Order: sequence, then structure tokens, then C-alpha cells
Amino acid sequence: MRRAVSGWAYLVAAALVSLAAYLSGAEPAFAAILFGLSVVAILLRNGADQPVARSETTPAPAPVEKADASGPVISAVLGAIELPVFVLGRDAVLREQNRAAEKAFGALEPGLHISARFRSPSVLDMVRETIATDEPNQIEHSERLPSERVYIVRIAPLHIEGAREDLFLLSFKDISELRRIDRMRSDFVANASHELRTPLASLRGFIETMQGPARADPKAQERFLAIMLDQANRMSRLVDDLLSLSRLELKAHIAPDQMVDLVPVIGHVRDSLAPLASDLEVEIRLHVPDGKVEVLGDRDELVQVFENLIENACKYGQEGKVVDVYVRNPAGGSVEVSIVDHGPGIPAEHVPRLTERFYRVSVTDSRSKKGTGLGLAIVKHILTRHRARLIVRSEIDQGTEFTVRF
Ligand code: ADP
Repeated sequence: MRRAVSGWAYLVAAALVSLAAYLSGAEPAFAAILFGLSVVAILLRNGADQPVARSETTPAPAPVEKADASGPVISAVLGAIELPVFVLGRDAVLREQNRAAEKAFGALEPGLHISARFRSPSVLDMVRETIATDEPNQIEHSERLPSERVYIVRIAPLHIEGAREDLFLLSFKDISELRRIDRMRSDFVANASHELRTPLASLRGFIETMQGPARADPKAQERFLAIMLDQANRMSRLVDDLLSLSRLELKAHIAPDQMVDLVPVIGHVRDSLAPLASDLEVEIRLHVPDGKVEVLGDRDELVQVFENLIENACKYGQEGKVVDVYVRNPAGGSVEVSIVDHGPGIPAEHVPRLTERFYRVSVTDSRSKKGTGLGLAIVKHILTRHRARLIVRSEIDQGTEFTVRF
């Protein structure tokens, strides 16, 4: 009431000041602006007064029941967290779970003991220990169903002032993907070392033989030297491919920005593979449309892609005698290059894994054909950078088609 009265008094004062200004010769517009500014000032002042006024008229609010896990603020905060989290009471009974937890572990009825969902003794021991000591804890925990997942499970007491009860936050950080990448990395290092170790062991064996038993046998030495050159070449192919992969990984996120005409690229690849094709008695036939077929790309990398695919088609589809390369540029559709061989084909179970590093349908077959097992991994890396896809269709005894779709 007192605030309303003082508001009116200010308003009357403002009107009087403006009127006085007008009467003392000021422009009417200036007097009007003065009045407007005074009103705004009064309103702002009243606004600033409000908390004080409220504290005068209303009693101090009772402490908010912040600790009530079903409170809307806590629910909203939990809902915004992308980690699955559960709120437990000191009795280890579930008070609340967020949407991420519902998605990961299914909806749980509030009021259930946490052991109704997580039976792992290590999780339950950890929960028990934190409830007893009020100290945060974390462990690694795997779930097998519905799919294999690895989590860092952490429990920490929630210190909420004026809470009705003690609460604990149980959170699950999914590290399955990190684990998978770690495993891939260590498999890769193991595979790469193994691939290098084999030719190295063979080189060492031949050197020892030439220093010992074959010391005075020039014929044997000549034969061994040829094999040693072969092994050294294999090692250098492997190192080249490994370096190529690591260079590609470094620029994986930079999309190429040059326009490249695929027709001369494919022509160049056919010419550079002509000696290999003729050794294998394979004919490479090109089917290209008239005019340019341009895509955004890096020319050297695209040469590498088509060299790998056409070389594989010649090597592994040798018995089909012909490798067809189709370049298609449909109006309104995606540019496609298909490399089709008429060889033995690839059993379906191998197809999804062909682009993994060192994956080969037959290791001896690949080695005998100077393969490193990295060609298709390099192709996949380059195509990912080009935002293009590799589609593999294969039928046993009919042949294989690798299509690059831009
Ligand atoms: P490699 O160096 O062994 O050729 P790639 O990564 O280029 O490695 O190919 C992986 C494997 O895929 C090869 O070892 C081979 O078993 C299989 N493969 C690739 N292309 C063909 C094809 N056109 N026909 C049959 N098998 C193929």
C-alpha cells in the first residue's frame, strides 16, 4: 500500500517538473520527453525496490525442498544430462532416473532397490561402500545385454543444503567406443610389426646362410639375393602403405576442393597398369561417357583409389580375363565408377571386413600377389575424405563389382 502511494507521489512530481519546464519556456516536446523519462525512472526505481517490498510484506520463504529428487529442477537437470544417471537414497532404493538411463537400461520403477537392475557384485559393493562412507567411488563394469558395453560407473553423494534425505548420484559413462578404438590400435601395431617381422626374419636367415654354408656357392647366393630383394621390396611396399594411411588419417577431416575430371584419371590408371595386366593376361576395358565427368576431389588420391581397385580386379579376378571399368554420370544422379571382374568372387562373410587393415580373404594368395592387406583400407580412407562410398557386390564364380559412388 505504502509503495503504491509513493509511486503516485513520484508521478505527480514528474508531471509538475515537466509542467514547470514548459511554463518556463521549454519546447513542449522537451517537456514531454522529460515527463516520459521521469516515468521510466520511477518504474525502474519501483522495480529495484521490489525485493525489499516483498521482504517487508511476505514472510521469508520456507527452505525449498531441494533434496526431493522428484523436484522439477532436479528432474530437469537430470533430463539435460546425456550420461545415464540414477538418484538413490541411503537405502540404495531408486528415487529417480533420467531419460538417458531409461534409454540405456529401460524404465525402472522408482522404489526398486538398485540391485533389481544391477546384479554385478562389484557395482553393488561400490554403492554400499559409498553409502557407508559418503566417499565417491568408481569402477569399470561391462554389460552383455542387449549388446556388449563397457561403462565407468561412478557413485557420489549429493550434498544438498536443507535436504530432506541424503541422496547419491550413480552415473554410467559408456567407454565401449574408446575401448574398441584402443583394441583396434593395438591390433594394428601388432599386425604391422608381424607383417614387417616376417620378411625381416627371412632376410636375416638368408644373410646368415650366405655368411655360412653358402659362403662359396655363387649359384645359391644368386638365388638367395633374388629372394632377398623380393622381401626388401615387400617391406618397402608395406612401409609406403603404412605412411600413406597415416598421412590420410592426418587430413581425414579436410574435404578436397578441386574439380577433377575422372575420365583422364581412369585413362591414366589403365595405362599405368597396362604392364601388370599384360603379365596377367587380363584386358582392362573402359566404358566412359562422352565429355567430362567431374567430381570434387584430390587427383592423386583418386588415382590411388582406382589403381588399387583395378589392380585388385586384375590380380584376384585374373581368371576372368577381362576387367570392365564403367564411369557413369546420370543426369540428376550421383557419379559412379564401377570396376567389374569376372573372377572367383568373394564369399559373403568376408565382404563387410575387406576394408579393415590387414584383412585378407587368403593371406597366402595376397602375399603371392604382392599384397599388403592395406589397399582397401587406404581406398576407404580416401573415399571417406571425399564423402564418397564404396559398394561391394560379389557372387561366387561370377565375379566382383567394386563401385565408388560420389
Ligand atoms: P591386398 O594388398 O591383400 O590386395 P587389399 O586391401 O587391396 O589388400 O584387399 C584385401 C583383400 O580383399 C585381398 O587380400 C583379397 O583377398 C580381397 N579382394 C580384393 N579385391 C578383390 C577382388 N576383385 N576379387 C576377389 N578378392 C578381392
